[in-house]
Amino acid sequence: MAFRKPNIAPMSQVPPQRRGRVVGRFCHACGGVFMRHATVHRGKGLGLFTRDHVAAPCTYEGEPFEAGADWWEFAVELLPAPATEEAEETEETADSPA
Ligand SMILES: [Zn+2]
Repeated sequence: MAFRKPNIAPMSQVPPQRRGRVVGRFCHACGGVFMRHATVHRGKGLGLFTRDHVAAPCTYEGEPFEAGADWWEFAVELLPAPATEEAEETEETADSPA
């Protein structure tokens, strides 16, 4: 049941040292991530944080992404955690038998 998620997160949820470049705009209302260059909340976005398909349109559908508005924030690339000296994790992915 492991889905590979895009490494994107709302800026406020990412510690400063792990913030990459700004890649989009995250809507708190519907969990959609829109293009960084988008000026208006339109369409479904990427829906990174929505668990299911939402039938009803977002409250902010059609609203402009105004600076300072509290219903959206920038989404940033999530950088890998800084390497520690005791790096035990391997990148190998073990496919669990079905
Ligand atoms: Zn929305």
